Amino acid sequence: MRPLLSDATPEYGGTSFVETFLFDGDDRHPATAKAVGGGSLFVFDPNASWKRIDVHREGDRTLHAYLTLSKPLDWFAGIDFTDPAAATARIAREVDGWAPELAALITGSDTGPVHRPHYALPVEHRWDRVAGVTLLGDAAHLQPPNGEGANLAMQDGAELGAAIAAHPGDIEAALTEYEQAMFPRSAAAAAQGAAFNKVLLGDNAPQNLIGILTGSYQWSE
Ligand SMILES: Cc1cc2nc3c(=O)[nH]c(=O)nc-3n(C[C@H](O)[C@H](O)[C@H](O)COP(=O)(O)OP(=O)(O)OC[C@H]3O[C@@H](n4cnc5c(N)ncnc54)[C@H](O)[C@@H]3O)c2cc1C
Repeated sequence: MRPLLSDATPEYGGTSFVETFLFDGDDRHPATAKAVGGGSLFVFDPNASWKRIDVHREGDRTLHAYLTLSKPLDWFAGIDFTDPAAATARIAREVDGWAPELAALITGSDTGPVHRPHYALPVEHRWDRVAGVTLLGDAAHLQPPNGEGANLAMQDGAELGAAIAAHPGDIEAALTEYEQAMFPRSAAAAAQGAAFNKVLLGDNAPQNLIGILTGSYQWSE
């Protein structure tokens, strides 16, 4: 649907996740489960900002991990992700030398590693009103993962529904009202998300993340 409204196409931003799962972590991978703790774990490679692993414990004790790698798409294309053993072996080289309980998030995965490339639309993506058509969620404002994508998609859906209900028989009024609120909301979230991802780069990334989580980080820096 997007081409009906906009010429923009999502572009690869230079980073990808590689996703893995360790099922029943407490019993089968106790050292890794202990490192992850009761919630989430973020580990930054001190030698390569943007090589990072984010792990969260799911309700069924699954350990769900995303290894962030800053690599071009060609690099990933050289890995056969349909061959789980070969893909695991290649991705494991990226965490060579890490503590065994952390490397196990790759080497011990119960699923083959999955490549999740990060694409984005322009931060200020918007369009002129076209009768009868609109976009919501990622279709309107795809951004690299920053913790807000699902929230924005649900808010878009709720507000679009409310606008349609508020303008019975006048869908154009509803779409106009929805878009007027959605455009600045999604642009602000995209800019904030970009800033969030930027401060996770560089030497101070771990300290920055702690500051963000505790509310002490000064965004004006
Ligand atoms: C690796 C990763 C991690 C993420 N982590 C988080 C997070 O922690 N928190 C967060 O808030 N967000 C996160 N996001 C972002 C979040 O997943 C998205 O922002 C959200 O799913 C967008 O919802 P959506 O309904 O707009 O699109 P989607 O969830 O992509 O849904 C679109 C649906 O439309 C279907 N579809 C596409 N084309 C057609 C067609 N022609 N006909 C019929 N159906 C079609 C697709 O199959 C899909 O089911 C993450 C994203 C990724 C990639």
